[in-house]
Amino acid sequence: VSVAAPPVRDGAVLISNDGRIEAVGADHDVPRPPNAETREFPKGILLPGLINTHTHLELSFLRGAVRQPEFHRWVAEVRDRKAATPPEAFLASAEEGVRECFASGITTVADCGDSGAVIQTLNRLGGRGFAYHEVFGPDPARAGESMRGLTASLDRLARFETKRVRLGISPHAPYTVSAELFRAAARLAEELDLPLAIHIAESPAESALVQKGEGPFADALRARGIAVEGTGGSPVEFLEQVGALERRPLCVHAVQAGDDDLATLKRWDAPVAHCPRSNAAHGHGAAGVARMRALGLRVGLGSDSVASVPAIDLFAEAREAQKLAGCTAAEAVRWMTLDGARALGMQTAVGSLEVGKRGDACVVEVGVNGSPESSVITHGSPQHVRLTVIEGRPVREG
Ligand SMILES: [Zn+2]
Repeated sequence: VSVAAPPVRDGAVLISNDGRIEAVGADHDVPRPPNAETREFPKGILLPGLINTHTHLELSFLRGAVRQPEFHRWVAEVRDRKAATPPEAFLASAEEGVRECFASGITTVADCGDSGAVIQTLNRLGGRGFAYHEVFGPDPARAGESMRGLTASLDRLARFETKRVRLGISPHAPYTVSAELFRAAARLAEELDLPLAIHIAESPAESALVQKGEGPFADALRARGIAVEGTGGSPVEFLEQVGALERRPLCVHAVQAGDDDLATLKRWDAPVAHCPRSNAAHGHGAAGVARMRALGLRVGLGSDSVASVPAIDLFAEAREAQKLAGCTAAEAVRWMTLDGARALGMQTAVGSLEVGKRGDACVVEVGVNGSPESSVITHGSPQHVRLTVIEGRPVREG
């Protein structure tokens, strides 16, 4: 299933030593150089490597550990547990997360975190993606301090960037980042030409804070002595006001985005990372993905962290997304692959099996009952993944 063309029975792909796809099609048409290392999966379905547009891989240690049901308390507990964790523990946690991605067919991630462990791990294990370095600071008086910390972190982590792994910036969310800090982070992203990712329009509590200066997030900020005022507008309008949409940020969640907000995102060509299982787990409601797709917004699928969902499973995300969007299985497969690549601006490199693209692929064995796409969407799970390769190099087998 190349995604770029209809599925081919007994298909094959040839990946060159430099990691590019050299040929793709029916097995008898794809050359087999005498020295080529081969893998055969008579019962397998070969797909492009899956693209996970939202992860927090450094938080693997919080799998199932955060039990606060209310979102603002959940956010506070994650923050406290991170603060109580020694820096070196994040490397082991990030490695668990990256390996979990590989084991589930994912070859590209768009990851948010603030330990720096994920870019180091992607670098070391040969993964692909963006590591958006998070910055926090709801107190406008301390925006300068937060920016100095961010700049120092970016300087420290730049040496882990490769052709496959890039840094980005993530001003976390409107309930953890002041308008001043949003503006400064967006300016820095512009200056350094780094991509942005922002959690936006996720919960009703966030909307209440931004619009009216009310609700549990507003109360918690006031309790810390931080003055809070409503803007009168939605979280997406707020992003526009602080100049963040100009950078076409990856907008994570966008559950509470109404029609006007979606039109605004479309106007700026800001992509969305849709995380259906996380949204459902926190009771945020269902994102308007059918509307997003009808508008032509770029929308990828994301798992979010295992503090929100039980495991990284893009097949399960695609099943949920398919129900919400009312799309076909073939469209859902495209959503896990090429649409995700488009959301990250990587569609010329990955997302489909096409000559000239990078050789990122995975094989699932689910048995074909009907079309291969419907088999993948109906039955696919990380347990069915037999092989994951990045630029032709196996990162997971078995
Ligand atoms: Zn997130």
